[in-house]
Amino acid sequence: MASTSKRLEGKVAIITGGASGIGEVTVRLFIENGAMVVIADVQDEIGKNLAEEMGAPVCVFRHCDVTVESDMEGLVDFTISKWGKLDIMYNNAGILGTAVNEDVHNLDMADFDRVISVNVRGMALGVKYASRAMVNAGTKGVIICTASVSSVLAGMAPVAYTVSKHAVLGLVRAASSGLGKHGIRVNCLSPWAVATPMLVNYLRDTIKDPTLSEEDAKASRDAHSNLHGYSLSALDIAKSALYLASDDAAFVSGLNLIVDGGFTAT
Ligand code: NAD
Repeated sequence: MASTSKRLEGKVAIITGGASGIGEVTVRLFIENGAMVVIADVQDEIGKNLAEEMGAPVCVFRHCDVTVESDMEGLVDFTISKWGKLDIMYNNAGILGTAVNEDVHNLDMADFDRVISVNVRGMALGVKYASRAMVNAGTKGVIICTASVSSVLAGMAPVAYTVSKHAVLGLVRAASSGLGKHGIRVNCLSPWAVATPMLVNYLRDTIKDPTLSEEDAKASRDAHSNLHGYSLSALDIAKSALYLASDDAAFVSGLNLIVDGGFTAT
């Protein structure tokens, strides 16, 4: 039975990519549930505005490019010097890249490198520095990485993105098997398409309709969904992140929680 109390009371969390989309909604939900949150992103203005809206002392923005090792190390150090610990690391920042309907024999290697750098290197750095801090402090923490249905399916997204999200699942499994002895849980969260800025901008480029609205993007994704009559939102994904971060998932580690209305089962 779902608890009605605050499920992250007193917990300290970092959310990368927390300025927009799934990350932004998760920042709000974690704070509603009693957590203190560091928003880590490269979009300084909207990140700072969100932190200001959430208010001190429970929320703060920190500029962090997840691909830069010193930024990630600095982010974890900053969090610990501010709140004395790190309980939850949500590695969520990701990009789709700019390739459109590209077959592998035409792979744009500059785009490939960018996507792998953010989606794989960025997540690996997040897992590395968060788990190091947790192990050193003896914190039985939680690490979550946003993957995608593209962690288990090809053809849903550009090649580089598919490669990167399969790698995220591998990273999570390796981290989960190594960190269990320290009491640290590591899980993957794999959404079906959600009409966030990332997806809307990509669909605008793909179908070359600059006027495409968020509603149009939703309608186009819903039409391809397996579960008719339900429109997946960023809040659905945030609620799954809340579950994985909370003690309700105390024995859940190494999981790929696929939130796709049954799409990958079909
Ligand atoms: P979004 O673009 O709204 O948010 C992504 C955030 O990541 C942005 O705020 C962006 O500034 C940040 N970011 C990008 N590169 C960064 C970097 N180098 N360092 C720090 N921050 C960086 O997109 P979203 O849909 O909310 O995406 C969140 C995650 O969900 C991504 O990992 C994405 O791959 C995954 N995902 C999204 C969908 C979808 O349909 N929207 C589906 C499956 C998985």
